[in-house]
Amino acid sequence: MHYYESVLEAIGRTPLVRLRRIEERFYLHFALYGKLERSNPSGSIKDRAALAIMKDAKKKGLIKDSTTVIEATSGNMGISLAMICSVYKLAFHVYMPASSSNERVEMMKAFGAEVFLTPAEEGMEGAKNAALEEKARTKDCFMPSQFENPSNWRGHIVTGNEIYDDLEGDISAVVCGIGTGGTITGIAKVMDRLAVNASIVGVEPASDPFVSKHQFGTHKIQGIGPNFVPSILEENLIHQMVQVTDEDAYEMTKILAKEEGIFAGISSGAALYAAVKLDLRHHKNGNVVVVLPDSGERYLTTEGLFHD
Ligand code: PMP
Repeated sequence: MHYYESVLEAIGRTPLVRLRRIEERFYLHFALYGKLERSNPSGSIKDRAALAIMKDAKKKGLIKDSTTVIEATSGNMGISLAMICSVYKLAFHVYMPASSSNERVEMMKAFGAEVFLTPAEEGMEGAKNAALEEKARTKDCFMPSQFENPSNWRGHIVTGNEIYDDLEGDISAVVCGIGTGGTITGIAKVMDRLAVNASIVGVEPASDPFVSKHQFGTHKIQGIGPNFVPSILEENLIHQMVQVTDEDAYEMTKILAKEEGIFAGISSGAALYAAVKLDLRHHKNGNVVVVLPDSGERYLTTEGLFHD
């Protein structure tokens, strides 16, 4: 018999898929592989970081049965935390700007989370302040703080190990978008530790080059490009940064669905755009991995992506 004790054991071991049709369309001189993170149980790469943060907090005694988990997030992290809190039987209070998509709000509620909407015009800052206010007046609570919590990148040691194992250590480059920096930092540490001579390529929005230029701006590539440099991001581990426009990210997201049958999110399109533009003359016929963080289903109502 083979079964999992809970859905949380199904996190990770995501498929690595050769993107041969993209290779042909863009005349690539290297083999390109997509890591399909939508295969995680709540549908995104964030399951890995959320589980690592929650497990670590439990181990350290920061979470008891009576603890309320409080976080401000409008994205995939909230959905992953809501799923985990459902299994752990913990109260989860999530603060989101009222502009957050309905799909996300409903998904978190379905997992049993209590959702508090803050004024849209105050953005994530307003949501964060409201979450901090609740934290200040609640004795028994835990805030995952994904941008500052090193358990976030530690959750991606496994992601790096999976890539290493699947390609038997023969890796020329790994391309990932940067949100909190957890994914790229964890994977880069594995490549460094196992002495893989892989180029670590980070992707940021062209209108928000927060890593390469420490300049901040607005963009439409949800999940990457926060308006600050996260403290867990280890910039020294990144060899190259690529800037991608909203338009190129949208276009590549559509191409990925049409060419490869992979219906992924916008940040996947951005990372793929960066990957096909890589100059890998010195790595001819090498293996390049692009991390595809979530599914297009999360953006069905996003204007201008799959419909006008
Ligand atoms: N893409 C999407 C859709 C995401 O939700 C995230 C997580 N914020 C990322 C990319 C970036 O991952 P990380 O936070 O590990 O840098």
